[in-house]
Order: sequence, then structure tokens, then C-alpha cells
Amino acid sequence: MKDSASRAHKSRTLAVHAGTRRSQYGEVSEAMFLTQGFVYDTAEAAEARFLDGGREDFIYARYGNPTVAMFEDRIAAIEGTEDAFATASGMAAVNGAMMSLLRAGDHVVAARALFGSCLYILEDVLRRFGVEVTIIDGTDLDAWRSALRPDTKVAFFETMSNPTLELIDIRAVADLAHAVGATVVVDNVFATPTYSRALDLGADVIVYSTTKHIDGQGRCLGGVICGTTEYIRKVAEPYLKHTGGSMSPFNAWVMLKGLEHMDLRVHAQTETADRIARALDGHAKLTRVLYPHLAGHPQHDLALRQMERGGTMLAFDLGSKEAAYRFLNALEIIIISNNLGDAKSIATPPYTTTHQRLPEAQKAALGITPGLIRLSCGLEDPDDLLADILRALDHA
Ligand SMILES: *Cc1c(COP(=O)(O)O)cnc(C)c1O
Repeated sequence: MKDSASRAHKSRTLAVHAGTRRSQYGEVSEAMFLTQGFVYDTAEAAEARFLDGGREDFIYARYGNPTVAMFEDRIAAIEGTEDAFATASGMAAVNGAMMSLLRAGDHVVAARALFGSCLYILEDVLRRFGVEVTIIDGTDLDAWRSALRPDTKVAFFETMSNPTLELIDIRAVADLAHAVGATVVVDNVFATPTYSRALDLGADVIVYSTTKHIDGQGRCLGGVICGTTEYIRKVAEPYLKHTGGSMSPFNAWVMLKGLEHMDLRVHAQTETADRIARALDGHAKLTRVLYPHLAGHPQHDLALRQMERGGTMLAFDLGSKEAAYRFLNALEIIIISNNLGDAKSIATPPYTTTHQRLPEAQKAALGITPGLIRLSCGLEDPDDLLADILRALDHA
């Protein structure tokens, strides 16, 4: 049951070894403890475990499970946080992080460029329970300055937004939020744990949908909340374990194995995204190409400061829905779907799918136009992908 990686090791070593708990059989690959419950030798042992169970004293999988604990310790080690709690999906993580921190009468400030379900939690769920929510343009630091108040409990934003790859200055927003005593909660999916510097830059709670780059092969839903042990075990865990948001041991095993090669995948996918973005920049059929490390990105300087690389996602605009659909329907390798971070490259038309229900004015404000395509770069050969895209653009 020894953890064979220390926090001093680098990320790729941690991704392979951190958090490992070996059973009495000394297995090499992490065991999948596909069990809901645990057996006690005596009635007294059962009583003792319910009274005063530590992290290794498992009683029920909704409370904790050895495979899930391995995943939590491994991702915490990679992210650099003291602890983590794994959840059933990315949305269970966002909901758990927010609901566990907030109560009626509290105030939240959130950036407007958000995943649809995050917006539902902020605008519907939290408001229904008496939390006041102010939604602002997160790229505008003056908007943060005027929205944050002494009673603001949480500042929430996606560090890189979906689908237009807007960046938020984590350091600047964290400084402003901390000045009023607010907790900074970030959804860090697009930055990925590989390129994340969220903790160093001042985020207090870092949330991932592990469905994306951490699984990386489109199999399981999952999420994780990373933070201090105090926050994770005393605030987030009680809420999540009693309301049913815990990750299944099977999914935790998939995520644990996904972490072993996440870094390699994300670097390769980023290499491809960077190359495709540069090849498409200025293409006659495109009105714009969005990629954080392209010189033309509106927040290029911030992107260079905040992210070592531009990430695995890019977006481009064909100017109209008709052209976008002709492009999508002409693709031969890249599939049309809505996941991201997968080994398979995926093209998404956000205007008519993931963001379909957003009011027209909000789509316009966020730059979600009918011709926009979001591309998640996979692990295929980049030459083949680029050829597929250029050929489909000819048809558009
Ligand atoms: C996918 C995603 C989520 C939700 O994650 P699920 O695992 O689908 O619940 C939240 N935020 C962002 C940025 C995402 O991409």
C-alpha cells in the first residue's frame, strides 16, 4: 500500500506512480476494487470504522473506495493540490464545488463564457436557492473589479472558454477575488492538467471533467475537484458523498490508467492543433481562426504567459451555417460529435448543437456564430488530419 512517487517527482512520474495502493498480491497494474461495500472482522470493528474512519478505512463506495482514492491522490499530485475528490461527471464536480461552498444570501461572480450546464447551475439552481449571481465578461478586469463585493463568496470561471478559446487572467482575477475574501473556483478542462498552472496563479479550487483529456478515449464520464485537504475533506466530500455525486470505481480505474499517458497524448494533440491552426490561419474560406498561441488571438500575450502551449482545441469560422455544414459533411477522418480531448479528432458546430439553446444575443456576445466549427485534435497523423480539413474546405 505504499505510494511510490513523492511530490518532488515530475508530472509524468507522478502520472504513472502517485497514489498507487497495492493489495496483498502485489499486482503491478492498479487493481479495480469493483465493490460497493467492505467487510468488517467483528461488530466492534464495524462500529469503530463508522465512528472514526480514516481515509483508508473504507465503508461504502459512495464515501470512498480504494480505486477511487488512487485516482484522487494521483490527480492531486499532478495538479499540485493537497487533495482531490472524484465525482460521477464533470457537472457533479462543478455542482459539488459550488453547492458545498455556498448558502442562501451569498453572492457569486462568474464569467459569461461558460459550458451550458455550468450556466444552468449558476443561473437556475443557485438562484433558486437564494444565491445572488452576477455574470460578467470575464476577460474584462474592470468588470470583475466592479462586480466583486465584500459578500462575494465565490468567483467562478473557465480558464479557457468553450468554444471560442477566450482566456481569463487567472492571476489578476484571483488577486481581485482574494482581496474581498472570495474563493476562486476554476473549470480547467480546456487547459488540461498537463498545461495547468491554475494553483500557482492563485486558483483555490480546480475542477475537471475527466470525461475529456483524462479518460482521453471517450469511454467514461467523470469529474474531479482539486483543492486543500481542509476544503476537500471538510467541505466538498460531505456534500458529495451524501448527495450521490461520487465516481464509480470502474470509471476511476479507467481514469487512473488514462492519467498514465495523458501527458503524452495531450502533447501530441497540442502539436497537431498548433500545426493545423497555423496552416489554416489566413485560409481564403475562413473568416477567423481561433487558437491561443496564434499571434492574432486577441489575448495572445496572456496565452503565452498563462499556458506553456496552446492546447488541443481550436476553432474556425466558415462564415455561414451552410458552408460549415458542407465542410462537416465532407470530412472523412474527423468525426462530427461533441466530446473533446478524445483520441479521435472531433468537429463540432456549437451554434446548432452544444450552444443551440443559448439566446441569440448571448451567442453573438460570445462570438458563437453559425459558421463556427470547434475542432478537438486527436491522435491521428497530423498530415492526414490537415489533408482531410483542406479537402473538406474545398467542398465548403
Ligand atoms: C464537458 C465539460 C463539462 C462537463 O463535464 P461532464 O463530464 O460532461 O459532466 C464542464 N465544463 C467544461 C468546460 C466541459 O468541457
